[in-house]
Amino acid sequence: MLEMFKLHREIVDGIKTLDENEKEFLYSALNIHGHFCGGMPMGYLAGLAGLKALNTTRELSMDKEVVVFVGEHHAGGCFTDGVQLATGCTFGKGIMSKDPRGKWAYMLIDRKNQKAIKVTVRPEIMKAAFEAPFITKYRIKGIPPAEVDKDVSIPAFLGLFNKPLDEIVKIEGPFDYEVDKTPSCFNLAFCEKCKDAVAENYLRVENSKKVCLDCFTYYKR
Ligand SMILES: [Zn+2]
Ligand SMILES: [Zn+2]
Repeated sequence: MLEMFKLHREIVDGIKTLDENEKEFLYSALNIHGHFCGGMPMGYLAGLAGLKALNTTRELSMDKEVVVFVGEHHAGGCFTDGVQLATGCTFGKGIMSKDPRGKWAYMLIDRKNQKAIKVTVRPEIMKAAFEAPFITKYRIKGIPPAEVDKDVSIPAFLGLFNKPLDEIVKIEGPFDYEVDKTPSCFNLAFCEKCKDAVAENYLRVENSKKVCLDCFTYYKR
């Protein structure tokens, strides 16, 4: 593991086009993501481009939100990790969501000013990524990213850092965006059947008992 961190540090430190903060977050992103690939840095750069276009900085106080247009059965998961780590809008904080459209695109929302922009990776960048050996020689054959030869995965990781951001993504907006301001529920409750802790607003009533969705007979997933 330690060897892996050292390699991540060395590769990220070699990137000349990022400032010190951007490098530090990219290093964290790479450690969390866990492997070299083309998608995560693509999302990371798309994230930086979005912040710049919206004239803002990384999320600090839940003031921003992202909606990522990746889908299921879609080679876009790595891209999402990059967007999350660059913008700071993470799934865990409840300020990242998916609207699956099978694209390499996302919307960045400024919650305070109720404005949003859409950031889409340019088609020619996607075409080049899908024609690279990382995909054609490995991923398409079902080989996991971590098992791809480093001679292929590290160039895939570094591929976009020398390009200007506007050659990588197309930006649309800013446009007006109505933000959902419903607060989080802080009322802790306990299911009367399985006893699990559950947020009160997720309880249902069945046979006069307050139950969780797992215990609720009529809940369909
Ligand atoms: Zn990846
Ligand atoms: Zn229950």
